[in-house]
Amino acid sequence: MQFQNTLQFARELDQEDILHKYRDEFHFPKVNDKQVIYFTGNSLGLQPKRTEAFVTDIMRDWKELAVEGHFYADKPWWDYHERLAAPLSRVVGAKTEEVTVMNTLTVNLHLLMVSFYRPEGKRYKILCEEKAFPSDQYMLASQVRFHGFDPKDAIVEVKKREGENFWRTEDILAKIEEIGDELALVLIGGVNYYNGQVFDMKTVTEAGHKAGAMVGWDLAHAAGNIKMELHDWNVDFAAWCSYKYMNSGPGNVSGAFVHEKHLGKKDIPRFEGWWGHNKERRFLMEPEFDPMPNVEAWQLSNAPVMAIAPYLASLELFDEVGMDALVQKRDRLTAYLEFVLREIDKEVSSSFEVITPADRACQLSVFLHGEGRPLFDYLMKQGVITDWREPNVIRLAPAPFYCSFEDMYRFGQILKEGIISGK
Ligand SMILES: *Cc1c(COP(=O)(O)O)cnc(C)c1O
Repeated sequence: MQFQNTLQFARELDQEDILHKYRDEFHFPKVNDKQVIYFTGNSLGLQPKRTEAFVTDIMRDWKELAVEGHFYADKPWWDYHERLAAPLSRVVGAKTEEVTVMNTLTVNLHLLMVSFYRPEGKRYKILCEEKAFPSDQYMLASQVRFHGFDPKDAIVEVKKREGENFWRTEDILAKIEEIGDELALVLIGGVNYYNGQVFDMKTVTEAGHKAGAMVGWDLAHAAGNIKMELHDWNVDFAAWCSYKYMNSGPGNVSGAFVHEKHLGKKDIPRFEGWWGHNKERRFLMEPEFDPMPNVEAWQLSNAPVMAIAPYLASLELFDEVGMDALVQKRDRLTAYLEFVLREIDKEVSSSFEVITPADRACQLSVFLHGEGRPLFDYLMKQGVITDWREPNVIRLAPAPFYCSFEDMYRFGQILKEGIISGK
């Protein structure tokens, strides 16, 4: 399709868009009394309008039933979290028994590493991407030290090539082969937070297994953004936060995946708690741990229902729409955003460089050569909510659930103004 950088054309695309009506399902902040253009759904997704009622229900049940809410609430609390497994399994391509919601992302990665990073003999190394998200770097380094190794030796990073802004799959595969029987674990962010790159999870997982390693993924930027088949790809474990593309609210509860082949085992090392115990016998308070036959064996505490409620509300929306429709709109919307950027770039002869590679999803990371922080500040003042990453990159993530083609056009006009006026 030949795009045009006009308001009329953008509106035509919105009219054709079957997801356009979902924009009304979300609350938008306002700047200067106008609804913002929101590009930070990769950081904190907007609040679905239906979410508040899910939380209010729990507050009401707690007020009226107190402890009896565990069993007699509209949606009883003791198994509330189970309601999320089915819709969530459809988002990440898993079996229902392979997914649950618990804790937060970094906590879950630590817990899963207890089970799946088990250095033995000369097999103790971990492969990750260079400049992984800081929390992942701290997590990996502390795990490695916990086992008595030196992170400088035990953590191997796949580098980008000189002059390139992305990781090549072939370089990851070569590294895996090179480390060979010293490789214990591959753990990479499935979609990179900085450049928006989507990793070839299927191929990398296969290669990791061939080398005899476990393979896990941090799906913070992948969940609700790309289509995945965690079960079919034979991924060992994964975790993701729910507050980015999954719109569940600040710092909210994380999702966790453990492949079926690791379920129902009693001999797997694991940090255990009562919510991982056989639920039929949980309240018998027996001394011996009897793990749940599903991923819930990794749960520790009784579920934070107040936190899970917004996630359930959001999953209702994901189930209504489905990942296929989201991915389809995502690609068109992102392509249109890129087109608008290039048009503006020509008009003002600036020089933006999109550093996001072709294997991408929602996010475009744009290097602003010659423009700086004042331009970013100008955008924010004009109601374009984006984010800034050193040295000179803005990240634009037009979440397909609630961003429109008209937003992209308007953003282009504001950007042009900002550059012309020397902001
Ligand atoms: C957002 C993000 C996190 C955040 O971790 P929390 O434990 O939820 O604070 C971790 N890893 C990656 C790759 C992220 O993008």
